[in-house]
Amino acid sequence: MSKDTVALIVAAGKGERAGGAFPKQFAPLGSRAMVAHSHAALSRHPAIDRVVVAIGAGQESMLAAAVPGAAYVIGGATRRESVLAGLEKIAAEGGAARVLIHDAARPFVPAAVVDDLLSALDRYEGAVPVLPVADTLVRFNDGLIGETVPRVNAFRVQTPQAFLFDVVLKAHRSWPTDMPVTDDAQMVRDSGYEVTKVSGDITLDKVTYPADFAAAEARLGYVTRSATGFDVHRFAEGEELWLGGVLIPHHLGLSGHSDADVALHAITDALLGTIAAGDIGTHFPPSEPRWRGAASAQFLEHAAHLVAERGGVIDFVDLTLICEAPKIGPHRGPIQARIAEILRLRADQVSVKATTTERLGFTGRGEGLAAQAIATIRLPRDLGA
Ligand code: MG
Repeated sequence: MSKDTVALIVAAGKGERAGGAFPKQFAPLGSRAMVAHSHAALSRHPAIDRVVVAIGAGQESMLAAAVPGAAYVIGGATRRESVLAGLEKIAAEGGAARVLIHDAARPFVPAAVVDDLLSALDRYEGAVPVLPVADTLVRFNDGLIGETVPRVNAFRVQTPQAFLFDVVLKAHRSWPTDMPVTDDAQMVRDSGYEVTKVSGDITLDKVTYPADFAAAEARLGYVTRSATGFDVHRFAEGEELWLGGVLIPHHLGLSGHSDADVALHAITDALLGTIAAGDIGTHFPPSEPRWRGAASAQFLEHAAHLVAERGGVIDFVDLTLICEAPKIGPHRGPIQARIAEILRLRADQVSVKATTTERLGFTGRGEGLAAQAIATIRLPRDLGA
């Protein structure tokens, strides 16, 4: 008999109650589809050997986009039929010792809850995560308040629900088709087995309405990433001097790739670094004639676009220009304002500093101008962590 522990995610709903264009389990939550969150959490749990997703007919391509390569089964018209289809697939592939049945609409699955559920299966045929009912429960009759429902021993039940595989399979197979049922735990209980409870978690709550999506996105959170950029260009006669997107009056300009704006190049590399997306040369090869003399603002805009595409938010950019001449002081304000404009930041999110190298080295001899930058962004936690 198989000793495997398998997770079955029920994602077969067609409902669009949350208001989106997709069934909600495939709607984006943070940087990926909702079902991808619980799939990832269950897949990486060390006690879970594999994950199967029950989807609706015609949802294959949505699942493939959400979780490439995910094992799946086509479910039925009701949740119960979908669970049964999933259990039969697991049985056909050699069975399992334990199964966790989970709703795709609950994207966050704390590993500790899974640990507690599986431990409970050492003594019981089933276990469910529950939370106490905090609010008063009442029945209304014809719109008027009726009797209060006692909260003693009342709990609200979440998923995943854990079962000995053979027990829940048998309960499903023998359940009369026309008998209504709310969940798998009830079926196992009514089939004569013991189902216990473990502590649930508020993060396991279902995402159903648009407001729930907003709350789940907030729960997802962000991680901070910082990265540096560095660039040098050579001074030359007959060139313009562009620094930070501002044309600076000077008897020498910088020569090189595009308009040779070292400041924007350093910041572009810093931003690309925060999302590990290569460097400016990867995206705009110096060998391509179309970048000759090009305004570097477009490179920076592209890097900012790539950050935004990943759901990232730029928090701060700090730039240091290294040269003996020209004096940067008089141009600091315009450079700061221009960089903020390109990145759509406030001016106080852009720092512009300058230093000399005490006449030492190539910058000290006035042969070239160097720039270094550091960018700090926030990325959705599910990508950045
Ligand atoms: Mg450069």
